Amino acid sequence: MHKICVIEGDGIGKEVVPATIQVLEATGLPFEFVYAEAGDEVYKKTGKALPEETIETALDCEAVLFGAAGETAADVIVKLRQILDTYANVRPVKAYKGVKCLRPDIDYVIVRENTEGLYKGIEAEIDEGITIATRVITEKACERIFRFAFNLAEERKKMGKEGKVTCAHKANVLKLTDGLFKKIFYKVAEEYNDIKAEDYYIDAMNMYIITKPQVFDVVVTSNLFGDILSDGAAGTVGGLGLAPSANIGDEHGLFEPVHGSAPDIAGKKIANPTATILSAVLMLRYLGEYESADKVENALEEVLSLGLTTPDLGGNLNTFEMAEEVAKRVRGE
Ligand code: ATP
Ligand code: MG
Repeated sequence: MHKICVIEGDGIGKEVVPATIQVLEATGLPFEFVYAEAGDEVYKKTGKALPEETIETALDCEAVLFGAAGETAADVIVKLRQILDTYANVRPVKAYKGVKCLRPDIDYVIVRENTEGLYKGIEAEIDEGITIATRVITEKACERIFRFAFNLAEERKKMGKEGKVTCAHKANVLKLTDGLFKKIFYKVAEEYNDIKAEDYYIDAMNMYIITKPQVFDVVVTSNLFGDILSDGAAGTVGGLGLAPSANIGDEHGLFEPVHGSAPDIAGKKIANPTATILSAVLMLRYLGEYESADKVENALEEVLSLGLTTPDLGGNLNTFEMAEEVAKRVRGE
């Protein structure tokens, strides 16, 4: 039995998450879904965006499936990632047939360090009109994120990928912090003889994900660079409605679409469930359910290629109808 903490949250989270549950149920796997609240709505009701019960449920379950939080996102998702110590943010960038992409052969994964860098929240006004932010890079966090990236490249190599990790940094300017980042990258690389290791400056990398995205396999970078790079990368394969993510640590995994609560389209049942379904695919792999993961991904691929989609991709199905098309194929109907 897989015990999953389900947090729908706000806005379209209330649509794309139930639609994804529909698909997960079609796998026939034994799931126990434990529902928990977080976000704006529960904040208005109770004064807490991330209630204690939700934290306990998240800690107690094998994985968390998360929808979106609106204005309280920073208090909810950033905090949850910290509490669960999910230090790796994983964002696949993959072209699917039937979706407008830069190139049809894009298939790589961005691994973003999730716990430090400029996101430590250490900011100060040191004088009137002079503010600073502290960028924290530690050997310990570097080692574990690079190991994670190389292990992922090994896994992907078994599935026929090249077996390469590309590190993106700015060591020419940030000599100390990214100097350490780059040094530890090549130190960890030595443990993985069968995986290629290369590095680029983040600015050049930003160009290469447009000019030669097909050459990448696993890309690893620090927190803020990863945030910026991955949204751009999502744009090359169809945009926010399609971009999934996983937050993974040694003890916990949290899976969520990259998009937010999208208040402009919430309640209309037109949100694309793809990003959340693909996040569930990542969750299935995390749970070791590889066969079901492939089944769901293949079903979704077919549905996308047939144009059985929500309006944002040019189709005329609603959120739940599109999910049902996927679920049907997962059940083999
Ligand atoms: P939040 O503050 O919660 O992030 P937002 O207004 O920034 O909300 P996002 O969810 O980040 O909204 O999305 C930005 C835009 O992309 C939305 O206005 C929406 O139209 C579109 N969008 C996002 N997710 C989807 C989706 N799953 N399906 C269709 N369109 C989407
Ligand atoms: Mg947003």
